[in-house]
Amino acid sequence: MSDVALVRGASRLVAALAIVIVLGLVGFAAVWSVRPPAARDAGASGFSAQRAFEQVEAIATEPHPVGSAAQGRVRDHLVSALRGLGLSPEIQDTVSIEGGELSSSAGGAALAHVRNVVTLIPGSDSTGRIFLVAHTDSVQIGPGANDDAAGTAAILEIARALAGGPRLRNDVVLVLTDGEEACLCGAKAFVDQHPLAQSLPNQRSGIALNLEARGSSGPAIMFETAADNRALVDVYAHAPKPVGTSFAVEIYRLLPNDTDFTAFREAGFTGLNAAYIDGAAVYHAPTDLPSAMDLDSLQHHGDNALAVTRDLGGRDLSALTSSDDATYFPAPGLLVRYPGELVWPLAGLALVAVIVLGWLARRQGRTTGRKLAGASIVTLLPIIVAPVLAQLFWPLLEAIRPEYAAMPIDPYRPGWYRLAVLALTATVVFAWYAWFHRSRRAGPVALAVAGLGWLAVLGLALAGTMPGGSYLGALPALAGAVAGIVALLVRGRWPVLAIAAGGAIAVIILLPTVIMLFPALGMPTAGAGAFLAVLLGLALLPVIELLHPVAAGQRGLDALRARRRATAPTLAALLATVLCTAVGLSVDRFDAEHPALTQLMYALDTDSNTAQWLSDEPSVQKWTSQYVSGDPHTVNATLPAFGPEKMRTGQAQAASVPAPNLTLESDTRSGDRRVLKLRLQPRRQVRLTTLHVESGVTVTAATVGGRELPADKLEVKEKDGPWGFGIVFHAPPAEGVEVTLTVKASGPVKFRAMDGSDGLTALPGFQSRPAAVGIAASHTSELLAVAKTYTL
Ligand SMILES: [Zn+2]
Repeated sequence: MSDVALVRGASRLVAALAIVIVLGLVGFAAVWSVRPPAARDAGASGFSAQRAFEQVEAIATEPHPVGSAAQGRVRDHLVSALRGLGLSPEIQDTVSIEGGELSSSAGGAALAHVRNVVTLIPGSDSTGRIFLVAHTDSVQIGPGANDDAAGTAAILEIARALAGGPRLRNDVVLVLTDGEEACLCGAKAFVDQHPLAQSLPNQRSGIALNLEARGSSGPAIMFETAADNRALVDVYAHAPKPVGTSFAVEIYRLLPNDTDFTAFREAGFTGLNAAYIDGAAVYHAPTDLPSAMDLDSLQHHGDNALAVTRDLGGRDLSALTSSDDATYFPAPGLLVRYPGELVWPLAGLALVAVIVLGWLARRQGRTTGRKLAGASIVTLLPIIVAPVLAQLFWPLLEAIRPEYAAMPIDPYRPGWYRLAVLALTATVVFAWYAWFHRSRRAGPVALAVAGLGWLAVLGLALAGTMPGGSYLGALPALAGAVAGIVALLVRGRWPVLAIAAGGAIAVIILLPTVIMLFPALGMPTAGAGAFLAVLLGLALLPVIELLHPVAAGQRGLDALRARRRATAPTLAALLATVLCTAVGLSVDRFDAEHPALTQLMYALDTDSNTAQWLSDEPSVQKWTSQYVSGDPHTVNATLPAFGPEKMRTGQAQAASVPAPNLTLESDTRSGDRRVLKLRLQPRRQVRLTTLHVESGVTVTAATVGGRELPADKLEVKEKDGPWGFGIVFHAPPAEGVEVTLTVKASGPVKFRAMDGSDGLTALPGFQSRPAAVGIAASHTSELLAVAKTYTL
């Protein structure tokens, strides 16, 4: 037989146990490297989570969306807190167009009347500016303790530490924005209109550090950078506890999320974006309360941001340049990083090393070319099967607990479910391995080489598509191949040490990313975490081989006994999967503090004096089913601001609520063109008001609230339905919004005007929610919309 095991007999068991213990310790250290530090009182010059938390409690007392009276109180509090530090905050009060390409909704171009709180801490000999950015507004239904009172409070605490310390060389600008949730409009207003953003010699000497949260716990992950980040990543690496990976930057680009950072990045500034993201069940929900916050996360946010601000504050920012993106990832005690130029060479080297390993193993008679080829094919099984099963896990849980369908990212207590997915992945890998490591067409050596081979191939594929993630395949493949080559060339206990070293490197590189990927993508995308976990399993095949107490080549009863023992790891992992799922289902129950989420809206059409309930729940919840039914359908025929989104509807009683007024203030006609000066004026307290022009009428220019819309905002994205160009204006002033449109039309033009307030409780026919039923994290939850058609 050619499957000659490197280690045999009793020493094999000892080696297996020793490696498992070592890898367990390494795994513990790797997980620890991405845990937030404990909250502490850091003295006058440091960042104290407790002091910052007192600010969170002052800010997050109630929902405070842009334009609300509550947001006015938050702003007053921030101004007085900053003045109390001896600083001179000013209010940037302006109208701004939406920031970020992704945030432009199909429902129309978004604008907002925002009031940013901007504070300059002048440097002694400034070479550029550091913008500390967080948003002061919350969503309309929740107090936003984490999102983003945490970031705002952290910046206040950083300002306190800076104001009490020696003066920095560079300017620090505290940019506490407004209207982030609505349209990133505050950040956009700052980068487009504020003198402190406009007066830099070049944009690269402006560095934005944005502080965000999309949950209530976990490490503050530096998940996004501007392009050519190498120099800044080097600075970040010296923060007290850097947690970030270049893979996150790549993943984030695929997600439909935006933060204020987008506005800074698109304006050409450089910078870093950090957020803690675990505990996402409270995100944008009424449960985003101060009491939900993990102070360790706040400490982590503040520790790193303060250190990076101080570091950048003393540098010559004009010299802080680089022309490539670094690859970086956390390891115990440091942030590993290398220049982007090394991505392709390392990926290539990994493949070469695996090929050399395969060649050497064949030459030594430990495997054959046919076995290597067979192993390469069968190794695709776990790579495909485990992620597919992990993807099916959440739909299974939804079938058991229908309320989960309304949780967009994670349930309240996802920990046991994540473990279940990892155990499920282990079950697949163990079962597959138990089957094929004895196969004549594969065998342990061929499987180990094939596993590393697929890692190397993935490293190459990612080098071409997502360079920041290439290390996840290339480095474990390279380490594993080098370890394998050493193991084949040496004698005694050295092969075991080589296998342990290769496995340890794979654990250090892959485990933190597996751990961070689950909260990043949530249970509905658990397959992604399972995929990376399979890669870790493939890198550990030589270790798994030691766990299977069989040297290949046995026959008869011995083989039977060995085969039975070989199923032990599979059965153990399967049992763990079932147990973790059962425990998860029993601990993650809905109650008043952890309510099931429901989404409901109300729309009144004053043309016909009819009303309807609407819900965008992906699968209708029990409470919501008393209002809406049937299949989801578009509603943009009467509610163009909703865009093409499909939702369920149900008949409602018409309430006595006035629609916004649309008045024609002037009308200039020349040929087939009309210039219409309109005033759109809500007649009640609203959060937003919208205006749409009938489809087929081309709008060639538009000025809204004094802002001229850029040409790309005039384009109509959704051509179906009776309405075309439209605007969504957040926080309209009481006197209304002036809208000047140049349209290609000579005759009358139809307009649809709508406004929206928040809160359904006063509506006829509304039944209040029972204690364990809450409000879903949607920007339209509890919206009360009133619409009317005008022909002018
Ligand atoms: Zn936010």
